[in-house]
Order: sequence, then C-alpha cells, then structure tokens
Amino acid sequence: HAKHDGGGRAIVFRQEMHSTASSRLDLESQLRRALDNRELRVYYQPVVDIWTEDVVGFEALVRWDHPERGLILPLEFIPVAEETGMIIPIGEWVLRQALTQAQRWRTEAPRALNPWIAVNVSTLQLRDANFVGMVADVLMQTGFDPTALHLEITETGLMNDIGANLKTLHALRTLGVQLSIDDFGTGQSSLSYLSLLPVQTLKIGCCFIAGLGGEDPHASPIADVIVSVGRALKLTVIAEGVETMEQLQELRRIGSPLGQGFLWSQPLPSEKILEWLGTRLPRE
Ligand code: C2E
Ligand code: MG
Ligand code: MG
Ligand code: MG
Repeated sequence: HAKHDGGGRAIVFRQEMHSTASSRLDLESQLRRALDNRELRVYYQPVVDIWTEDVVGFEALVRWDHPERGLILPLEFIPVAEETGMIIPIGEWVLRQALTQAQRWRTEAPRALNPWIAVNVSTLQLRDANFVGMVADVLMQTGFDPTALHLEITETGLMNDIGANLKTLHALRTLGVQLSIDDFGTGQSSLSYLSLLPVQTLKIGCCFIAGLGGEDPHASPIADVIVSVGRALKLTVIAEGVETMEQLQELRRIGSPLGQGFLWSQPLPSEKILEWLGTRLPRE
C-alpha cells in the first residue's frame, strides 16, 4: 500500500509541477506582449478625508485585462514583471497613464476637486538609473504638478538597501514629488531610520485595519501606534482597506486623517470614477 500511494503521489506531484511551470512560462511570455497589445488597465481608488469624506486623491492600481482569463490582479503578475524586468516599462506606462488621467480630472472634474494621484513604485524601478529622469520627463510631458504626485514604496522594499534608495528618494524630492511608505508596519524599519527618510505619508496596511471596530476594542493597537508615529514625525497617515462604518468610527477616534477602502469605493476604471463622484454629490 505504502509503495502504491507513494508512487501515485509522485506522479501527481510531477504533473502539478509541470503545469505550474508551463503556465508560469505562458504568463511570462503573455505579459511581454500585454503592453503592446494594450491589455493593461489602470484603476483608481479614492482616498478621502476621514471626517468630511471628501475625496483628496486617488491611488492608481494596475490590472491586466487578459484576453482569455479576464482581469488579473497585480499580486499575480507584478512579481513576474519584477523577475523579468518588465516592471520598468510597465511602471513607466502606469505613471504616464495615471498622470494623464489625473491631469484631466484636475482641469475638467466638477467642483473644486483637485485630487492628488498616488502611483506604486517597485524597488526595482527605484534602483533603475533612469528612474528619476523618467519621472521628470513624464511630469513635463503631462504638465502634471509634481507636488500632487505621490509615489508609494513598500516599507520592505525601502529598508532593503536603504543607502542606495536614500539618494533616489532625495532626488525625487528635489523634483517636488511626495513620497509615501506603503504597508507601513509590515516591515522591519526602526523608528530612527524612519526619521531619516524624506517621506511625507505613511499608509497603514489593510491587515491592521481589518481588526478595528470589532468586538475587541484592542484588537488592533498597531493602527493607533502608526497614527501616533505619524503625528510625532509630522507625517500624513492613510488607513487602507476601510470596509465598515465601525472601522471608520474607530479611525476617527484614533485620529487617522485619511482613509481608503471599499467603504467608499473599490478601485474603478477612470470613466466610472466620474460617475461615482456624481453619485456622491447629494451628500454635500
Ligand atoms: P497596495 O498599494 O497596498 O494597494 C492596496 C490594495 O488593497 C489594492 O489591491 C486595493 O484594491 C486593495 N484594497 C483597497 N481597499 C480595500 C478594502 O477595503 N479591502 C480590501 N480587502 N482590499 C482593499 P490591488 O489593486 O490588488 O493591488 C495589490 C498590490 O499590488 C498593491 O498594494 C501594490 O503593492 C501592487 N500594485 C498595484 N498596482 C501597482 C503598480 O502599478 N506598480 C507596482 N509596482 N505595484 C502595484
Ligand atoms: Mg499602494
Ligand atoms: Mg496602497
Ligand atoms: Mg498598501
């Protein structure tokens, strides 16, 4: 019996490995063509003032509209893009797309909406020698106000090789761009490093918001701590992944100034954003 099971399992295992490897190769070669084939999309998620719930900005989030599989989320293809170097052209495309769109909103959108735009940056992009020049070019070509561009870098990526990253961050600041640490609290940065970084915003990751406002009032003290750190270092704080009114109330109590999450809106294609803004008009 043991022999039979073992053999059977070995065969199943090998088949799975094979199909995983080949679908991974498929994904890789399809991703190489995705840009040229215009299959990538940028979705936008509003960031709101936690008290007034007015929109203050948007985060650009990339999706891949795969011809057979439909919409693929970044967690599945960004790692592939990073391993293949495709993240460099993809990242530039997302930035240009987002700034072009945001420039349109800043000139055409209703009311006094003058949103900033946040774009995610992989550390592989940060380490690319042309990155700062590329950002400067795209800002110039789109005419977008550099101070309304927020670049988001994950804490883990930043802290890894901080010396090399610091030079780039300072160069980006010289352009006028704002810098945010994404998923703050999930990495290993010490507070002394944080005070050295030329960043303006901390984003509290979804996992620290999920426990807020539930049965246990102390379920997630981390969000509270991050807000305090932000206040002490004079940084803005954005709570990500806000889904419920209870979480919103808890964030108001803690004093997080800004929020982002399904409570207000999922990430949406640009044309749906104007529609969404329209449905919010009666509340004001
Ligand atoms: P992130 O930058 O931390 O983005 C926030 C993620 O949380 C997004 O997932 C968003 O859809 C999701 N989210 C927003 N509100 C809620 C909520 O209320 N509940 C829950 N459960 N989730 C919420 P998404 O779009 O799948 O992106 C995942 C990650 O992929 C991003 O995390 C970011 O690290 C990366 N990413 C996305 N776009 C880009 C890009 O253009 N370039 C790079 N380098 N990375 C990107
Ligand atoms: Mg982000
Ligand atoms: Mg984010
Ligand atoms: Mg995040």
